[in-house]
Amino acid sequence: MFDKIVIANRGEIALRILRACRELGIKTVAVHSDADRDLKHVRLADEAVCIGPASSAESYLNIPAIISAAEVTDAVAIHPGYGFLSENADFSEKVSLSGFTFIGPSADTIRMMGDKISAKKAMLAAGIPCVPGNGEALTNDNGANLKMAQEIGYPIIVKAAGGGGGRGMRVVHTEAALLNAIALTKAEAAAAFGNDTLYMEKFLEDPRHIEFQVLADSQGNAIHLGERDCSMQRRHQKVVEEAPAPGISQELRNQMGEQCTKACKDISYLGAGTFEFLFEKGEFYFIEMNTRVQVEHPVTEMITGFDIVKEQLRIAAGEPLSMTQEQITFTGHAIECRLNAEDPKTFMPCPGVIEQFHMPGGPGIRCETHIYNGYKVPPYYDSMIGKLIAHGEDRASAIARMQTALHEMVIDGIKTNVPLQIDILADSAFRVGSQNIHYLEKKLGI
Ligand code: ADP
Repeated sequence: MFDKIVIANRGEIALRILRACRELGIKTVAVHSDADRDLKHVRLADEAVCIGPASSAESYLNIPAIISAAEVTDAVAIHPGYGFLSENADFSEKVSLSGFTFIGPSADTIRMMGDKISAKKAMLAAGIPCVPGNGEALTNDNGANLKMAQEIGYPIIVKAAGGGGGRGMRVVHTEAALLNAIALTKAEAAAAFGNDTLYMEKFLEDPRHIEFQVLADSQGNAIHLGERDCSMQRRHQKVVEEAPAPGISQELRNQMGEQCTKACKDISYLGAGTFEFLFEKGEFYFIEMNTRVQVEHPVTEMITGFDIVKEQLRIAAGEPLSMTQEQITFTGHAIECRLNAEDPKTFMPCPGVIEQFHMPGGPGIRCETHIYNGYKVPPYYDSMIGKLIAHGEDRASAIARMQTALHEMVIDGIKTNVPLQIDILADSAFRVGSQNIHYLEKKLGI
C-alpha cells in the first residue's frame, strides 16, 4: 500500500479521501489554495502545502504546482477526487511521467471517454446500448446530414464531441431547423471547447438518468455495484440521488451490470468509474462514462457496504479487487441530498460564515461535509458544502429518515438549499418514485 499520497482536491471529497487513507494507514498531504487554509482536511492532514491563490486556475487546476507538492513531500501517488483535474488526461499523464501513481484510469482511457464520439464508438463496440445514431462525426455535406437525421427520426440532438457540463448541444424538432442548428452548435463548440466536431443522435424526450458504478483492477477483474437513479436534476446538475433505482428488477440490474463490467474489460479500464445512461420505456441508452469517483457514490456504499474510495486506493496500489461479483449484495435503499450554500428560491450562491452547524444523526444517517461552526464558505468554488445520506430497509424508510435528518440539521449564518430538499422529499410524485429528468424543473416552474 502507498506510504503517502497527495489529495488534489478540496471540500467534502478531500475529507472523504483523507478518512479512507487514515483507515488504510496512508499518510496524507493536503494541497490547498490561499483561500482554503481553514478547510477541515487541511487541518487533519499529516502535511499541507499551499499551491496558489484562490483562483482555481492557479491552484486546484495548476498541474506543475500539484506535482511539485508531491515531490517536496515525498508522496508516491495523487488522488484527484472529482471535478478539477480528475478527468484531465494530460494531468494523469504528467503525474505518471513524473514518477507518481495517478489514482484513476490511464490517460488514454480518460482521453477516449472525454471525447463523446470515441466513447460512443468504444461502447458500441463493447455491446453497450447507445442512443440511436451511428456516432460518426458530421461532415459539411448538408445532404448527408439531412439524410442521417431523417433516418434517426426527429427530434434529434446535435452534440459537440468535446462538450461537457451540459453545454454544446441543441435539440432539433424539424428538418427545416437542422442545418441552422448544426451551424450554430459548431460555432459554439469551437468557441467553448476549441473543437467543432459534432455528431447527432435521437433526442429522448422523457428519460430517467440511471447510472452503473463499476470498479476494475489491474489484474483484469471488474465488478459492478448496481445502479443509482439521479433523475432529480436542475440545469443538468443532480440534486437528489438514490440507489437502487425504483422499478429496476434484479434481472435487469444483473444484465446491465454485466454489460458494463464486460465493457470495462474490453477497454482495460482501471479504478472506479460510472456508466451513465438515459432510461426510457424500459431501455437503457449510454450517454457518457465518468472516469472518477462521483459525488453520489455514498448511496451505493450504503446499500452494498462497500467502500469505493478505499477500493480506489487499493486498485491503484496494484491490489486485486477485494470482492467478487458474487460477494456483492444489496440491502435496503439509500438517498442522498446535496447540500448547497445557495438561495433555495433563486439558486444564487450564498458564501459566508457558518455561525452554527448541528449535524443530524440517528440510524442510517451519514453526513459527508467539511463545514464546522465558524467555517467561512469561500465564494470562489462550487457551492456544494456537503451531502446528507439516509439508508433504510426500503425506500419509504430512507425517505422518512432523510426527512427527520433534514429537519434536525441546523446551518445558520448562510442560506442553503435545505428548504428545497425538504420540499422535494415531501413531494407526492417524488415519493412515488421513477420521475424523469425534467420533473424537478417542471415542479419549480422553470
Ligand atoms: P455532458 O457531458 O455535458 O454532461 P451528456 O452527454 O452527459 O453531456 O448529457 C447531459 C444531459 O443532456 C443528459 O443528462 C440529458 O439530460 C441531456 N441529453 C444528452 N443527450 C441526450 C439525448 N440523446 N436525448 C435526450 N437528452 C439528452
